[in-house]
Amino acid sequence: MASDYYKILGLSRSASADDIKQAYRKLSKEWHPDKHKGDKKAVDKFKEINEAYEGLNDPKKKQMYDQFGSTGSGAGSGSGAGGFGGGQGFGGFDFSGFAGGQRVDVGDLFEGFFGGGRKQPREERGGDREVEIGIDFTDTVTGARKEMQIKKLRACDMCSGSGAEKGSKLITCPDCGGTGQIMKTAQSFFGTIQQAMQCPRCKSSGKVPEKACSKCSGEGRISDVAKITLDIPAGIDDGQTLRVRGEGDAGRQGAPAGELYVHVRVRADARFTREGDDIRTVTSINVPDAILGSEIAAETVHGSTTLKIPAGTQSGQVFRIKQKGMPVLNTSRFGDHYVTVTVEIPAKLSREERKLVEEWKRLS
Ligand SMILES: [Zn+2]
Ligand SMILES: [Zn+2]
Repeated sequence: MASDYYKILGLSRSASADDIKQAYRKLSKEWHPDKHKGDKKAVDKFKEINEAYEGLNDPKKKQMYDQFGSTGSGAGSGSGAGGFGGGQGFGGFDFSGFAGGQRVDVGDLFEGFFGGGRKQPREERGGDREVEIGIDFTDTVTGARKEMQIKKLRACDMCSGSGAEKGSKLITCPDCGGTGQIMKTAQSFFGTIQQAMQCPRCKSSGKVPEKACSKCSGEGRISDVAKITLDIPAGIDDGQTLRVRGEGDAGRQGAPAGELYVHVRVRADARFTREGDDIRTVTSINVPDAILGSEIAAETVHGSTTLKIPAGTQSGQVFRIKQKGMPVLNTSRFGDHYVTVTVEIPAKLSREERKLVEEWKRLS
């Protein structure tokens, strides 16, 4: 079964890693079994989406897929277990929710797929994690340092991630002789076929601990809550994602860790409207200031500044204050600040004002 992963995710072959992630998030929400209770087709579709994502999300697998049209995993087709396997028991995600039709929070679901529920342990690198962080608008102006706690697999401290009990070492897997694969012979209509299967004992790594670590059962990693310090760069915008290298799940038996992706949500600010790197505000002035000109205080994200209002300013006129907008991400430049000035027509006049306006009317 050679499924077209790109087609399944509705992407072209030139899709970027971000495109792939986005398409996956959208489709997996759309086809979530929760939304299609009792629909077996939807479940299959959901599995298909997950399989396609797993094949394209990982750069190594993707390269293999692009080159050979398959990720080379023996598992894929038959069982259809896909991301549902989850049997490894790492990451603490329970997939039983699907079978029982219980509600599974989508957040948890992503956590499960990106983390523990990996179905192809051939890839020893730890899984990626995704989390969301909410920050204030002012944090995007100055940048900010945030601490957050995330659930992930971290290296086992008992065995330093090796999976081998103290005093014991990793040895060549006796079941597969270190190849990480075992050959399975099956009879078919066309004759005998040999199929390479992942070695269940070493999970493709080719090595097993002589004596498994008692704390992590030989995996070299354990589920934990980790504290992460996140530096949020100035200029970041709502909906952007930060990658924290190596802060995803620890790899199996000391293999490299996955990445942590932090999706940034910015709480709206009542005073400022952001447009790309520019900021927009609206301010009102009185009629004499509009006619005669004036100087007013304009609130920018960098504090108050003086804005010169020329004589004869019209209501709705826009003034630019150069480089008082948002910091441009990863540069030392700034966007601009635009002030829309509205002229306030007084609804009530004092007797004296009224007299003056009437006089003015006579003159003009
Ligand atoms: Zn251990
Ligand atoms: Zn083995």
